[in-house]
Amino acid sequence: MTSYDVVIVGAGLAGLQCARRLPEHGLRVLLLDRKPALDRFVHSTGIFVRKTLEDYPLPPDCLGPVVRDVILYSPSGRALHLRSPRDEFRVGRLQRLYARWLEEACRAGAEWSGDTHFLRSEPSATGSIVQLRTGGRRWHARARFIVGADGCHSTVARDLGLDANREWIVGAEEVYTGVPLVGPPAFHCFLDPRLSPGYLAWVVNDGEETHIGVGGYPGRFRPAEALKVLKRRVAGWLDLSRARLLERRGGRIPVGGVLRRIACTRGLLVGDASGAVSPLTAGGLDPCLRLSDLAADVIAAYLSSGDDAVLDHYHGGLFKARFVSRLWMRRAMAAFRHPLWYELACAAFRRTPLRWFAWHVFFGRRSFPSVEPWKEAVRLQVGG
Ligand SMILES: Cc1cc2nc3c(=O)[nH]c(=O)nc-3n(C[C@H](O)[C@H](O)[C@H](O)COP(=O)(O)OP(=O)(O)OC[C@H]3O[C@@H](n4cnc5c(N)ncnc54)[C@H](O)[C@@H]3O)c2cc1C
Repeated sequence: MTSYDVVIVGAGLAGLQCARRLPEHGLRVLLLDRKPALDRFVHSTGIFVRKTLEDYPLPPDCLGPVVRDVILYSPSGRALHLRSPRDEFRVGRLQRLYARWLEEACRAGAEWSGDTHFLRSEPSATGSIVQLRTGGRRWHARARFIVGADGCHSTVARDLGLDANREWIVGAEEVYTGVPLVGPPAFHCFLDPRLSPGYLAWVVNDGEETHIGVGGYPGRFRPAEALKVLKRRVAGWLDLSRARLLERRGGRIPVGGVLRRIACTRGLLVGDASGAVSPLTAGGLDPCLRLSDLAADVIAAYLSSGDDAVLDHYHGGLFKARFVSRLWMRRAMAAFRHPLWYELACAAFRRTPLRWFAWHVFFGRRSFPSVEPWKEAVRLQVGG
């Protein structure tokens, strides 16, 4: 049986970031995913916000053109145009980015096992025995520590007895190429509970790729139907007649806020598995990067010192306060189901100082809290 310091379950953005960082600490790492390859079944639109673009050097060829314009539509179609003087968003070419980061992780020393399912784990004297299945073959590996980067519905969270997401919305989108760009690249958002109950529908056209999607509470809408309605609604200005459908994407997005108990002596959670997604905007890419960075430092410090107290610096309660207002806004979006409320809210955004609020939601340089103070606390704890 092969022994690893860390087994990372899931090679989305969160797992890949851990897999790039952990070998720096001299740890033997296995990264696995049930997907055979990372260029399929991406489930994110891939919009990176300014704060991420400023703090993380993402490869430019894995990013689309800059987007500075947001147009917010009320249920009756009244538009509010917001333009930022700064480069606010770029749509990631996630397949390319994931492939690049997998290459980097392997170059740094991580081992990769595609088409591999995490089944369960059992405690052992040195950590855990992990049960895996690759193709039809079952096998076991020893792990001193397990990272659950396996998304919203995390098997690792349940296996380790950690907290699990209980509230989520679902998103579905189509990605096209060959859609003519009219005006600057723009992010069009549709606030309409008939299309997207509890969230929003979107069209992002950056001139190279166009993403058309809907999101909302499962059970309150049918995403495929809502997507058809959205395409009919935008047909007047979005010409899909010569467009080529590249792919369909979709999945769950946790919106209950970061979970409390996300670490124990056998493992921890990152990314969607930890609930680290903005409850208001449902943006999860920035939190993936920041929390995985902290996780890598915590794991390295814990494995080198054997001091359980290091794990206290990896607890959802540390970040909860930053999500309070966004959780209240999520509650409001979930509770107000009639289009009239959204019409009134959009009118207020257009005509009153509340325009500032809309501006702040889209362009405010806020996302997941900085993890630097906690990284510093970890260093001090182990005397680094
Ligand atoms: C339609 C949609 C659009 C979105 N758009 C944006 C956006 O534009 N901007 C933004 O910031 N956020 C967006 N999000 C949210 C964002 O995509 C996620 O927060 C982020 O991708 C989560 O990454 P992750 O690595 O935690 O999980 P994932 O990307 O879900 O990766 C989890 C991986 O674990 C693997 N896995 C699961 N179970 C097992 C198992 N038992 N064994 C082995 N492997 C397993 C899966 O195959 C998967 O590859 C969107 C989400 C959706 C659904």
